[in-house]
Amino acid sequence: MTTNERQCEHCNGHYLPKRKDQRYCKPECSKAGRKARDREAYQANPEKKKAQALASYRADRDGRRTAMAKRYVDNRTEVLADRKELREQFGHRMNARRRELHASDPLRNRERWSRGYALLLGVPVLNFSIDQLRQRLSMFGFKCWMCGGPFEHMDHTKPLSKGGPHSLSNIRPSCAHCNLSKHDTWPLESRRSAL
Ligand SMILES: [Zn+2]
Ligand SMILES: [Zn+2]
Repeated sequence: MTTNERQCEHCNGHYLPKRKDQRYCKPECSKAGRKARDREAYQANPEKKKAQALASYRADRDGRRTAMAKRYVDNRTEVLADRKELREQFGHRMNARRRELHASDPLRNRERWSRGYALLLGVPVLNFSIDQLRQRLSMFGFKCWMCGGPFEHMDHTKPLSKGGPHSLSNIRPSCAHCNLSKHDTWPLESRRSAL
């Protein structure tokens, strides 16, 4: 081992560092090392780490979600592999948490899903509270705006897939049948004739 060589902190292999502060031989080792450090920090103080993660997420919720959506589009294979790993490790806990969220507030849960999908499509996403959303839906009596049937879906009047925004003014309650038979029809005139 020459004086310039260094030992990788993850795989213990020897390498020639390109930077002064380099600790790992290759990107894979760096990623694995970062994961191990995160895990250690979490185990040392789980409550602190959870609070930190939540605070940084809340500080820039939509920015974080947009970045996640972008990463999915750019590195789909990697993201799917990561998700699979997480599911294998924490699947039961993730499902329990999802059920808990849904049971505590189904509307919030539904809105969260819709927002994520809108961000993924890259359409405008506006901020509003769940109470404002509830008020908006109550304007339609929580009934399907097309047929008066039960409120089963949140309908984006101008479909997200046609560039419609995720905003209060673009959301109306609809039944599953009307929402699904809409088939992204836009503008509304052609939808009326389709019904
Ligand atoms: Zn290494
Ligand atoms: Zn309907």
